[in-house]
Amino acid sequence: MGNHSRSRSARRDLATVTITCVRDGHAHAVPDVQIAGPQADGRGRYVALCGHVVTAAPMIDPEGAPCPLCSRS
Ligand SMILES: [Zn+2]
Repeated sequence: MGNHSRSRSARRDLATVTITCVRDGHAHAVPDVQIAGPQADGRGRYVALCGHVVTAAPMIDPEGAPCPLCSRS
């Protein structure tokens, strides 16, 4: 019997969200799994690809200059 079980394909491509940090003014690339994932502490702090702990800037702030370390990876 061909009982096709639906295989959940785990996304391998790392989706990132650009978040500007108020501390250094750079726009860092944060894996979007952190936004809704268990790592999210609800305080708007995320760990960017470069390892920087991003303190998210208010949306009203203009986006900062792209982080050179994040954009390199
Ligand atoms: Zn960065």
